[in-house]
Amino acid sequence: MNAEFVSELVCVETGERFSAEDVQCEFGRLERIFDVRYDLERVAQSLTAAALAGRVHDIWRYQELLPVDPAGERPGLSVGWTPIVHSERLRKLVGLSRLWVKDDGRNPTASFKDRASAVGAARARQRGADAIACASTGNAASSLAGMAASIGMPAFIFVPERIPQPKLTQLLAFGAKVVRVAGPYENAFELCQQACDRWGWYNRSCAINPYLVEGKKTCGLEIGEQFAADPPDWVVVSVGDGCTIAGVVKGMEEMHQLGFLARVPRVLGVQAAGAAPLKRAFDEGRDLIPSPADTIADSIAVGTPRNWRKALDAVRRVEGQYVAVSDDAILDGISTLARLTGVFAEPAAAASLAGLIEAREQGVVGANESALVVVTGNGLKDVSTVRGALETPIDVPLDLEEAARQLTERGHWHKG
Ligand SMILES: *Cc1c(COP(=O)(O)O)cnc(C)c1O
Repeated sequence: MNAEFVSELVCVETGERFSAEDVQCEFGRLERIFDVRYDLERVAQSLTAAALAGRVHDIWRYQELLPVDPAGERPGLSVGWTPIVHSERLRKLVGLSRLWVKDDGRNPTASFKDRASAVGAARARQRGADAIACASTGNAASSLAGMAASIGMPAFIFVPERIPQPKLTQLLAFGAKVVRVAGPYENAFELCQQACDRWGWYNRSCAINPYLVEGKKTCGLEIGEQFAADPPDWVVVSVGDGCTIAGVVKGMEEMHQLGFLARVPRVLGVQAAGAAPLKRAFDEGRDLIPSPADTIADSIAVGTPRNWRKALDAVRRVEGQYVAVSDDAILDGISTLARLTGVFAEPAAAASLAGLIEAREQGVVGANESALVVVTGNGLKDVSTVRGALETPIDVPLDLEEAARQLTERGHWHKG
């Protein structure tokens, strides 16, 4: 396979450097975590503004910075190049000089995870895999199932027994082979590792397979192009395992090194208060401190993030910060974002807005600063959690007077 601009893989623990051909980090059981590096001087000769101007608006426009052969097979779904949304009302409410939202819920299976799964599926195909597998309860699973369907490759998804029905349905609709494992998520993860080991499947574990983070990086690459000369002061990202924030930072750094992005924004990593091991480790200047994981924001309910070193290093490099937000603040974030911008986010995705509001209150982010909030998943992914926090409909017969009476009672506008 031809990923011609990849120069080496670096071990994130020891800093040891390897040539990409010498390292096995995609098939079977994965243990050690690497970072993929590129020959940026050569990339710069090929990835120019003029070249970009002629390319399709999806993640593959950054082909030099992705570990995938542009001539080989890739999923046919349109992933990435998600819009930047502006809302004056939200800006005023948060109290910032400028504020934007990047709506990643608009990816094909409705979450940011499509960026990683698209690269994973392309690599699996191009490296001749028979099947691709992951353990997940949520967006990683549904996006992998969708991308695998797009290239016609079998996908094996290991899920814990308590997987919510809507998510199970999405997997089955894409034709994934779903293995429901008794016990907690850790059991599903372990059985998936064993199966990959035994049968040599492609292992889509974003936390360990370094090529998956390259997919997540495309959000940062896009920010580089979308903001170019005028980057925001802060980019706000919700954090579970930490691959997303590490990828966003890496993408922005590469675009800065290539001269597209004037400077690398600081990042604000947002965790749920009930699952905040990275925030704690960051504040205390320590390595990972495993914690319980208790939050409604299921996509970031991670007590022992496997990619903690990348997540902490990335935030330190750009002088960022971590904050934690309560479940109530996350629920408020969902309705605030939806009402003031028209963007409906799932809990883990609205956590980013809640975190920005918290950071304003703490003075971590100043009123004269600007911010971009990354919304990582669509609200339709998880409606049951948020329903209780929203108003109920009024119930009426076919009787306009009764509708008017009830609307007035609720204090809603009506004409009359
Ligand atoms: C996975 C996910 C995240 C966090 O990504 P990590 O790499 O686990 O930090 C945030 N939001 C949504 C919607 C996700 O699915």
